[in-house]
Amino acid sequence: MTELLHMSDNYIQEFDATVIDSGDGFVVLDKTAFYPEGGGQTSDQGELSDGERTVSVKEVQKIDGEVRHLIEGKAFEIGATVHGTLDWNRRYECMRFHTCQHVLSRYLQLNYGVETKGNNIKPGESRADYTPLESFGDEMKREVETGVNAILSQNLPVEIRNIPRAEAIQFLQDKGYQTRYLEMVPKSVENFRVLLIGDYDAASCAGTHVGNTREIGSISIGKSKNVGAGVRRIYFKLLNH
Ligand SMILES: [Zn+2]
Repeated sequence: MTELLHMSDNYIQEFDATVIDSGDGFVVLDKTAFYPEGGGQTSDQGELSDGERTVSVKEVQKIDGEVRHLIEGKAFEIGATVHGTLDWNRRYECMRFHTCQHVLSRYLQLNYGVETKGNNIKPGESRADYTPLESFGDEMKREVETGVNAILSQNLPVEIRNIPRAEAIQFLQDKGYQTRYLEMVPKSVENFRVLLIGDYDAASCAGTHVGNTREIGSISIGKSKNVGAGVRRIYFKLLNH
């Protein structure tokens, strides 16, 4: 089992770890700060070094119950100590995008009664799918953009809390969060990682997020398209300020 350091601290950029498994083109570590692709968020990239040799981490994937760092070059041997360094620009941009997506989703839920069906968080441009949403015209787009930016500019603190399962489900229900699928999480999961964005949003999420909405900048909503009956995919970018 790999300890996922991002679960408790999203700002770890470098770490030391021990290789616990390796194979053709991959290594598994006892702990890692690399985010493995999942929950709609793309994988981190970066480097691993044993002090003599540095290899690129192209992506990190959950495969066969392992968190595998897919690398370029020969894998390090089991027992080796390595130093990991994240491509921080890439990761930080994902954190900003992912936190922004929560605010966008909450805004659309509160003001338009739509649910989030899925998302794809990556540098450059991210997207999320909403239902029921047949159209997303220019007027609504401008209204949502202005509304989301007004929330972001409140400099809301973003907090992660690990809450026992039953308590977390109740808490999220009270906050108006869709808890249907939380009931389906295997009973072996005893604690939920709950994300709080000020008093504005609460969600169960294992992704990476910034510590305050001021870090996001502002949202710029791009094109949108239908991707199924009543499902609208909305693309968005972030503007630094
Ligand atoms: Zn999240």
